[in-house]
Amino acid sequence: MAITDRFCPKCGGHSEREGLCDHCKVAETRWLTCEHRVQSIHCPSCGAQKQGNVWSDTDRERADLAMDLARSAVHLHPELRSPRINVKINTLSTNRSRATITVQGVLYHQQVTGSCDVEIAWNKEQCDRCNRISGSYYEGIVQVRALDRIPGPYECQMAAAIASEVELSLQTGGERLSFISNMSETTEGLDIVVGSQHIGLLIAHKITAQLGGRYTTHPKLIGEKNGRPLYRITYSVRLPRYQKRDVIRFRGRYAEVIQVESNFLRVFDFTEGNIKTVREEEVDQLIGNARDAVDAMVAFAKGDTIGVIDPDTYATHECAAGKSFNIKAGQYVRIIRDGDHLVVLR
Ligand SMILES: [Zn+2]
Ligand SMILES: [Zn+2]
Repeated sequence: MAITDRFCPKCGGHSEREGLCDHCKVAETRWLTCEHRVQSIHCPSCGAQKQGNVWSDTDRERADLAMDLARSAVHLHPELRSPRINVKINTLSTNRSRATITVQGVLYHQQVTGSCDVEIAWNKEQCDRCNRISGSYYEGIVQVRALDRIPGPYECQMAAAIASEVELSLQTGGERLSFISNMSETTEGLDIVVGSQHIGLLIAHKITAQLGGRYTTHPKLIGEKNGRPLYRITYSVRLPRYQKRDVIRFRGRYAEVIQVESNFLRVFDFTEGNIKTVREEEVDQLIGNARDAVDAMVAFAKGDTIGVIDPDTYATHECAAGKSFNIKAGQYVRIIRDGDHLVVLR
């Protein structure tokens, strides 16, 4: 043995450096520690997961979560090289699982293996969102109304679809408290009760962007939270007097609304077969909406006049078909009624 050789003070064996040999160093090192117990908190109503104090939505399975929870309970020595962690989950009951964890790696040039058990507690707690919903908490109401009329079924349906779309995109983006807690049709229109001011504003904005009209906000002080004033806001949406596909009578002719601007309408003139701009005050009468039109058979066509069979009475009405409207006997047209008169749409 050379004079430069070093000896381990513990086992007296050969050591590669000053102090303990690798073997004794490994024996002295607590390289694997596990927490005995970890818990997972989830909301029994919506399945959201709580981490620390933060709730988030997840669609991960319990088995998947268990793996992560088990791994999070393992603490390894920083000197451990190439660790391989193996987890086996055993379900003990609906709210308890046991994870058996085996770790292999290399520590101070020695192959090491260790294992530990971690108990996983599956705890339930109502999440922040479900708590607010069940407590009827809300921050605003979007009231969808129309100017001098009641919003139609199509508009209510569209407004509801827009609201749901906004909710989905905010929730997906992590805004958990931007929820819709209630949507109901009233005799005046549609009421959408919302959990945050942000979603209320977005819904009002998108509805008017898509259906026309405008909205105003009406805050009401309802109290204080953490020293800050707390408002509940009514988003008052006013859809325009006319809506897309309305059939109107103006200057003795019929037309269909194709676009609603703040003071005028863009319409398709049935008589001339072209697009016109009409001021609201020029409209003599709202006849109906093209969505409510019905099919009627054409009995004859003669120049600009066609004979249409009334689907209710089977009587033939002579109607103005308008220019360049190629229709033949036996074909169907869409009609809407103006009193006794049948208006042929195109
Ligand atoms: Zn030693
Ligand atoms: Zn929940």
